[in-house]
Amino acid sequence: MPERVFNFSPGPATLPYEVLQQASKDIVNFKDSGIGLIEISHRSKEFMAVIEDAESLLRELMAIPDNYKVLFLQGGASSQFFMVPMNLMVGKKATYLNTGTWSKKAIKEAKLFGDVDVAFSSEEDSFNRVPKQQEYSVADDSEFLYFVSNNTIYGTQFHEMPETEKMLVCDMSSDILARKIDVSKFGLIFAGAQKNLGPAGVTLVIIREDLLGKAPESTPTMLNYKTHADKGSMFNTPPTFPIYIVAEVLKWLKAKGGVTEMEKINREKAALIYTAIDATDYYRGHSDADSRSIMNISFNLPTAELEAKFIAEAAEIGLNGLKGHRSIGGCRASIYNAFPREGVVKLVEFMKEFEAKNPA
Ligand SMILES: *Cc1c(COP(=O)(O)O)cnc(C)c1O
Repeated sequence: MPERVFNFSPGPATLPYEVLQQASKDIVNFKDSGIGLIEISHRSKEFMAVIEDAESLLRELMAIPDNYKVLFLQGGASSQFFMVPMNLMVGKKATYLNTGTWSKKAIKEAKLFGDVDVAFSSEEDSFNRVPKQQEYSVADDSEFLYFVSNNTIYGTQFHEMPETEKMLVCDMSSDILARKIDVSKFGLIFAGAQKNLGPAGVTLVIIREDLLGKAPESTPTMLNYKTHADKGSMFNTPPTFPIYIVAEVLKWLKAKGGVTEMEKINREKAALIYTAIDATDYYRGHSDADSRSIMNISFNLPTAELEAKFIAEAAEIGLNGLKGHRSIGGCRASIYNAFPREGVVKLVEFMKEFEAKNPA
């Protein structure tokens, strides 16, 4: 078997090796049942135990209050861009914070259903920061404040969650379970699994119960949160394999000490890279210092040629996936929960060597 490389990919992203090993056995023969995990009925007692595990571990790790439902849906995080307004703001108003590609896409969809009040945008500064509390206000007649807690492409993150009387609705796709949060401030949280939770194919939705059934009568059955909440995410066939992996990742996370311990490690890993960036003018971080993400670190070198060389030479020594998103170019190190500290240390060493060998 080839040695594993350090995979800095933004998503799908690196998963705990132990989880992959376990999955490779269970796919073929699930818990010695003589049948593979992806062959069993979603209504079998074996799979019911898997989805129950996933939900209860998530409730425990995130301290989700009892008046919230946990849903496992399909369609990716992008489908939540329309499901949220379709269920919660038809013909009404909502406030959105425009902090990157993913919020912009969500704003576009929300406009199909109601009145969108964009209270802040950092687009003109190529999304290099998230707003401070005093920089925006939430309209009195808004149903909710929508924001993206971590901007995967630009490498910015809300260090404190917005404070408002209104409920928060959050796209947490790239930092769910990376740090402690107070779920009770949120009406709805969603996250595509493929960044910090598992493989592509399942989207997690955490929704406060009183928001179920708010969708207009004309809402298609599959697009109404209530349908899935009433049936425990089993209205139709759920994505069984991704849900299984999520359960395994959550077991791994719990064994590692849960979110508190993970947050500590995440902060240490990010600090190693930011310290290297700040140590020289050679590397420039995309994000303003007070908006820096602990999950995705986007940075530039002096020229595009040096960036291409950096990415290519890094890959040669097993540091993969460092190319920045096509919308801003440069480099990006995505260091989610499952990304090992050794890989960060190796990257920082490589950054120093590369600068020494390739002066600007
Ligand atoms: C990746 C990402 C998305 C899009 O996820 P899909 O599952 O591909 O639709 C949305 N929001 C954020 C913050 C992301 O990082």
